[in-house]
Amino acid sequence: MRAAGPRALIAVPKGAKTLDVHGTWVLPGLIDAHIHLSTAAEARDAVRAGVTSARSGSTNFYQDIAVRELARQVPAQAPRLKAAGVFVTPDLGDTVLADPDLTPLARLRDGARSAEALRRVVEVNLALGADVVKTRVNERAGLPDQDPLTQVYSREQLSEVVAAARRGGKGVLCHSYSEKGCHDAVTAGVLSLEHGAFVGERTLHEMRRRGTYFTPTLTAIAGLAESPDPVLAERGRTYLPVLKRAVVAAHELGVELAAGTDSSGGKVLPVGREVELMREAGLPAALRDPHGHDRRGAAARRGTHRRPARTRVRRADLIVVDGDPLADVSVLKTPVRVVRAGLAVDPAGSPGTTAECRFSLPRPHHRRSAHEAVPEFFRRTVPGAA
Ligand SMILES: [Zn+2]
Repeated sequence: MRAAGPRALIAVPKGAKTLDVHGTWVLPGLIDAHIHLSTAAEARDAVRAGVTSARSGSTNFYQDIAVRELARQVPAQAPRLKAAGVFVTPDLGDTVLADPDLTPLARLRDGARSAEALRRVVEVNLALGADVVKTRVNERAGLPDQDPLTQVYSREQLSEVVAAARRGGKGVLCHSYSEKGCHDAVTAGVLSLEHGAFVGERTLHEMRRRGTYFTPTLTAIAGLAESPDPVLAERGRTYLPVLKRAVVAAHELGVELAAGTDSSGGKVLPVGREVELMREAGLPAALRDPHGHDRRGAAARRGTHRRPARTRVRRADLIVVDGDPLADVSVLKTPVRVVRAGLAVDPAGSPGTTAECRFSLPRPHHRRSAHEAVPEFFRRTVPGAA
């Protein structure tokens, strides 16, 4: 992007492809702050839903690290991504096969719970290039035989995860539901609470004080309410109003909110749905920034809606919607056009590919193994490991 403003004040370069978006609204690309992108199809569908940037909520086999690279190689096929690597959870299941450096964890009868084991999972993630670390304090809501109010990690265990992530300069996202779980996660120093349905006022105050932010994933909880499983449907119906109240309380107390859908398993839900649910919960259409200024008003006062905004040349991520999003946020669910890194993506049509250009395969990445990064680590710390 070189400039933005009225046509009379902007020189359109010769030969530039133009999109006629007369009568529509042009907005910056949307960000899904909690999404599981495990396949190329999911990555592509996210872009078509207007998500030009995203933060991963983890993948089982480091697919998100590759999706991040896919976004660099072929931007029209994937959002620019903050990758989380694998989930830091007691029961890794098949994820012990995601990297040879994780296989020693299969020896642990009780799963990844010790300080050493928690550090190991975080360090393998960081060695493979994760941008953030995803862990949990509570069980899952989406499985009928689990109770999301049951705590799986203590504050001390979460502190180990946070400390290991911080050594690599990274923050931690924490899957949470119960108030005690939320409080333990926040006081352990996580970067953001994910879901957080039962977060209480004392924890919200603490979040405000520490700058912890809140990704409620209302979309996921609303989805549970429509589950064919009666336990999950009941859980969704009970949790959704509680979570909506938490979202409003968080906003009123000055906690920053992020929109995330928690999409996974092949179905990408539009992040516009999350915005719609936040609006339904009672958030204003135009959020104020933390200093209390109406962003739209400030822009108008500065006159940036009239003068072309000169900027360093950047590859533009934009969406085009068919109506005023301040009057009806639901238009965000179905962008009519998406521009990803300066390339127009057809939301309904052919897979986005870049214009043909001279192409050579980059050399494969070499990575340091976690063993090299942490010499002799596991032999020393796992009891019974010879
Ligand atoms: Zn998730």
